[in-house]
Amino acid sequence: MNISDDIEKFIEKLVWYGHASFKIKNKKVIYIDPWQLPKDVEKADIILVTHSHFDHLSVEDIRHIKKDDTIIVIPPDGASKLMGNIKEIGPGEEIEVINIKIKAVPAYNVNKEFHPKRNEWVGYIIDFEGIKIYHAGDTDFIPEMKELGPVDIALLPVGGKYTMNAEEAADAAEAIKPKIAIPMHYGAGVVGTLANAEKFKQLLTSKINVKILSPKK
Ligand code: ZN
Ligand code: ZN
Repeated sequence: MNISDDIEKFIEKLVWYGHASFKIKNKKVIYIDPWQLPKDVEKADIILVTHSHFDHLSVEDIRHIKKDDTIIVIPPDGASKLMGNIKEIGPGEEIEVINIKIKAVPAYNVNKEFHPKRNEWVGYIIDFEGIKIYHAGDTDFIPEMKELGPVDIALLPVGGKYTMNAEEAADAAEAIKPKIAIPMHYGAGVVGTLANAEKFKQLLTSKINVKILSPKK
């Protein structure tokens, strides 16, 4: 259950803007599903978008953090809403962007209709200078999660309704076996509350390390 110093340090630099919106930063700045960002945020080298729902693909936030050379990785149906250096991606595809390996993995619902498998929306596994971080996107617990391979950090939706709830996300975390799991997709007025995250943590006690982040405003 010990977490290495590398991962501890990495998590200190991981910024959660609430919901599914994250920034990871070392030499490069990567945003995933940037939404409701504060005004004074830094510009992005890479932006990853999991799918085209408003709480994940925010044209306004992307415009705010985009530089001329920012690379945006996104499934095709959302790409048409954006301008710039865009790389379209689908589940199972892998690309390397400024020396960072990014793999798109499936993300879909199995017991609801909001994110059909046929839409080919995604989650991402980012190999960020040796640390593998998995952002699940909007998804249920799907069989493919058992085949992700080792991941250090898993960002998992726990809000229910559109995605996994706390119980389902705990089952997913046990299948994925990350070194640390971080709950997301709650608390931003769309779905779910901190209680979902706390339940997720409690269900994984003595099984998987869970860290509940505080959103940066
Ligand atoms: Zn969605
Ligand atoms: Zn969502």
